[in-house]
Amino acid sequence: MARYKDAVCRLCRREGMKLFLKGAKCFSDKCPVEKRNFAPGQHGKDRKAKVVGYGLQLREKQKTKRIYFTQEGQFRNYFEKAVRTKGVTGEMLLQQLERRLDNVVYRMGLAVSRRQARQLVRHGHIAVDGRKVNIPSYQVSQGEEITIRENSRKLPTLEVAKEFASHQPVPNWLEIDRDNYKGRILSLPKREDIQLPVNEQLIVELYSK
Ligand code: SF4
Repeated sequence: MARYKDAVCRLCRREGMKLFLKGAKCFSDKCPVEKRNFAPGQHGKDRKAKVVGYGLQLREKQKTKRIYFTQEGQFRNYFEKAVRTKGVTGEMLLQQLERRLDNVVYRMGLAVSRRQARQLVRHGHIAVDGRKVNIPSYQVSQGEEITIRENSRKLPTLEVAKEFASHQPVPNWLEIDRDNYKGRILSLPKREDIQLPVNEQLIVELYSK
């Protein structure tokens, strides 16, 4: 499966907003969106047309995929599962994205970005209820305990992440014990708990055509 390997800041510039993909840099004046807030590429500056209708729906879907670093097929599967789940489809879609193990690790403050969280998971540093899980898309269930594995607690990135997370709000659907590198989902996140600049209804409309 193709994975995006180009500079991730281009993704923010393409969406015309900060997607917070790089941790501390996103909050500094080195953020390219601060300096060059136009689409990347040779003709980026010329693309000024107002996006409406299908284009708007498409951009909303692309933006959401990019925030969570998911591929099209996987994102579509989340949508189809959301349709089958009782509740508001858009909210169920976001809830599944939030319950991804890499996202929960990021929200717990064990990584400065979802990309770094994904790497922690992939490299086998994360345990769920005491068992190693190295699948970033693993859906964390309510009550499951997420920890950094014993042998991985000396990773230098964890200290950096801890310092970074100390300036971030703690999501109220999570219980976090940062000193012991562990946390759990207290309750499944509701729409108002997910602070994202996303209009999920546009994604539902796009996929419902
Ligand atoms: Fe996006 Fe962060 Fe890069 Fe800024 S620094 S463009 S917010 S990834």
